[in-house]
Amino acid sequence: MSISPAPRKPVTLYVCGVTPYESGHMGHAFTFSMFDVLVRFLEANGQRVKYVQNITDVDDPLFERARRDGVDWRELAGRETQVHIRDMKVLGWRQPDVMPRVSDEIKQILAAASKLHSLGFAYRTNALYFDVSKYRGYGRLSHLTRRSMLRKLRHEDLLGVVGPEAKQDPLDFALWRSSRPDEPAWPSKFGDGRPGWHIECTAMAMHYLGEQIDIHGGGRDLQFSHHESERAQSESLTGKKPFARAWVHTGLVRYEGHKMSKSRGNLVKVSQALQRAPAAAVRLYLVSHRYGRDWTFEWKGLTRSARFIERMRKFLADDARFAHDGPRLEPGRRLMAEFNAALADDLDTPRAVRVLRAAVRQGDAPAVRAMQEVLLGSAALS
Ligand SMILES: [Zn+2]
Repeated sequence: MSISPAPRKPVTLYVCGVTPYESGHMGHAFTFSMFDVLVRFLEANGQRVKYVQNITDVDDPLFERARRDGVDWRELAGRETQVHIRDMKVLGWRQPDVMPRVSDEIKQILAAASKLHSLGFAYRTNALYFDVSKYRGYGRLSHLTRRSMLRKLRHEDLLGVVGPEAKQDPLDFALWRSSRPDEPAWPSKFGDGRPGWHIECTAMAMHYLGEQIDIHGGGRDLQFSHHESERAQSESLTGKKPFARAWVHTGLVRYEGHKMSKSRGNLVKVSQALQRAPAAAVRLYLVSHRYGRDWTFEWKGLTRSARFIERMRKFLADDARFAHDGPRLEPGRRLMAEFNAALADDLDTPRAVRVLRAAVRQGDAPAVRAMQEVLLGSAALS
């Protein structure tokens, strides 16, 4: 990712948001804190940003969880969406400009599915499927061969049924399908039903940001099949390439030797971390890692971040107490140049954090405040 500001036009950013059934763990917080640093860095440098992050409240895992727990999917989705927004507010984000919910966007989604059908990119059997063979380059975004794509789908239990009444090819995916009795259903010319996962994001991204967007982001586990499929259907829909100028994927967070995941049950919740450290320390710990790399959450790492945040808090408090007689100083040019160079270099946040530490050591309060705003947002220091 290279970032070169062009202040006249806003940068358009679409980030795949949560499926609201088990929100608020460190993996989510890492992804959304990273995109928050990106947005704040661009805005601090005079670049406007239009940021859309969706809520996937129509999706299989959500319905499965609602079924398992015997609750209404709307209730579960509403509650978990609130958890997500509350956690990210505490971690100091600048809320996205639009946070569309799939259940409010069915009209756009259906229009996109319908257009793909009329253009000949989709076919109807027991559902409406996107025909992957009509798109050249399926697999190129994630650099996967057909064999590894099939292996991944099998692993995620997304292969489905192939046959004359179903998919023609196991890589094809549903744009519109019928709903189970306890799932929501919307009327359509393809029968009452609900959208497939990938078309939801295509439709919402295009509706709010246009046919081509600057940056499309999400966790790396979304690269295949979600983003691969989104790209194929979006470019088929408009005939314009690329759909996204940059795809930005965040690494996965491990805990006790394994990827943090709902299925394994090794999630560290944001709320648990906040019991042990102030919000700014949690956020600092997250952004001390490169956005694209996998890393392991460790409590001692959070403790180290908390120690630095306490030092920084005291330093800023002393500065505020003694500084108001004299003239307000500008942040040191050299420190700010180093800080901006680090973030302009593919969002190297660990390097930017080192510059922030140097600014505290050198006693440059205006620089510390400017860097704090970009790296830690509005997260509280105590
Ligand atoms: Zn998405």
